[in-house]
Amino acid sequence: MIERTLILVKPDGVARGLVGEIVSRFEQRGLKIGAIKLVRVPESLAKKHYDYDDIVKRRGELVWKKLVKYVTNQVVVALVIEGVEAIALVRKICGETEPKAALPGTIRGDFAHHSFKYADSKDLAVTNLVHASSDAKDAEREIPLWFEKDEIISYKRSDEAFHYGE
Ligand code: GDP
Ligand code: MG
Repeated sequence: MIERTLILVKPDGVARGLVGEIVSRFEQRGLKIGAIKLVRVPESLAKKHYDYDDIVKRRGELVWKKLVKYVTNQVVVALVIEGVEAIALVRKICGETEPKAALPGTIRGDFAHHSFKYADSKDLAVTNLVHASSDAKDAEREIPLWFEKDEIISYKRSDEAFHYGE
């Protein structure tokens, strides 16, 4: 039940100086950082990360193109976050995809306000600060795209004895 998930602080999050604020949302919830680094995203990585077939089926080809443009040649912070049933929990902490609809208390609901309609009218991807793996299959596919095995570090936080037992 201890899961690992991939988070990206997207280029708008880095540009706005929100990296610390965003990372602390996960830390304060008791989730553990397993890996963290700054990455300037090459097009090849952007295209692997945003799987063409998946995005086209769910959101359309135009969105896929805008997404690749949004992250390519930009700086993001990539993280592996670990914890009890972490994948779904992290999605909840991020909030809904469309910032306009995201609830206050979530990252997207506290720090962003873009809408799909506005983004589409400007030929932009909706700027929503973070990416988080959507399920276990996605996490398993995405983590190795961003991190080598030896960049993901196992260690104990001092509070783990309380939560995890022996
Ligand atoms: P996520 O898992 O919540 O990030 O959402 P998706 O995987 O469905 O979409 C990937 C990303 O595409 C989102 O985070 C947005 O940045 C962008 N996006 C999704 N849908 C739309 C849309 O309808 N219009 C625009 N402009 N961008 C979108
Ligand atoms: Mg997604």
